[in-house]
Amino acid sequence: MLRLQRLCRQAVQRTGQSKILSWFEGVKALAGAFPTAGNTGNLRNPSTRWTRVQISKKPLCSGVSPRPTGRVIARLKASLRHLAIPTICVLCQQSTPADSLCALCRESLPWNVRPCRRCAAGELPRGIDLCADCQRRPPPFCRTLAPLQYRGPSARWVVQAKRQAGGVAARLLGRLLADAVAAHYEPEQLPDALVVVPVSWQRLLRRGHNQAVLIAEPVCRATGIPLQRRAVARIRHTAIQPGLSTRARLANVRAAFKARRIWHGESVALIDDVMTTGATASALSEVLLDAGVAEVHVWCAARAAVS
Ligand SMILES: [Zn+2]
Ligand SMILES: [Zn+2]
Repeated sequence: MLRLQRLCRQAVQRTGQSKILSWFEGVKALAGAFPTAGNTGNLRNPSTRWTRVQISKKPLCSGVSPRPTGRVIARLKASLRHLAIPTICVLCQQSTPADSLCALCRESLPWNVRPCRRCAAGELPRGIDLCADCQRRPPPFCRTLAPLQYRGPSARWVVQAKRQAGGVAARLLGRLLADAVAAHYEPEQLPDALVVVPVSWQRLLRRGHNQAVLIAEPVCRATGIPLQRRAVARIRHTAIQPGLSTRARLANVRAAFKARRIWHGESVALIDDVMTTGATASALSEVLLDAGVAEVHVWCAARAAVS
């Protein structure tokens, strides 16, 4: 905060004003003095970027009206976003040069190797596509993509994405999932729409976000598949899933969801952070299939081991 105040003071001086009139004016001047392009400085390691930013010659508030315009507010928001979210690794909290996941943590991730094509449970022998469970009792969804196993660092990452301030972690999971989609799907195999697993309003109120939406957004941007945010609703609050037995979990999610629109034979990718037993994905897939969806793919960041 002290550094921010000092930067504001410098920015006011650079933009030609004689003194700081208010905190807000200082922040406005900062938005002008350090424009968004290239302004990705890391406050914990300021030597990396701050020396390279271009200083704006023109003060932002030089007009007649003292009221900030929409453009000023947009630049201010962008500048503050870069100031508030330094580039630190989401797993080890160390400063990283470019990404929000450092090279060491990326190497330590447990990748989901040779998973079942239908439910993403791994690791199957070479040449085998489906696990014994899926051969015996196929789930209602046709294919599951889960690049990570849900254990160790990836489990910590997923838990972090659920927390109140877990936006960065969730979006980074989304980017990882988008990379996996690009690696495993041909363009013509891509589904027609993205649907997220909804959370109850009680959970949304507590967390402030639905992590599945934050994961879906980078996937939507990378693939160009439209995101249907309100295609399904959770009509019943269900208890936290981990810790419940499979039977209890199935009973818990049954009738918890309802479709909010009619589909006409489209294929859909259902997006969530983690698949544990697959009970939630199965329940939602049945709801979507009943509403007219032709086939459901499940795309989640991590897959828990089948017990
Ligand atoms: Zn790290
Ligand atoms: Zn399977």
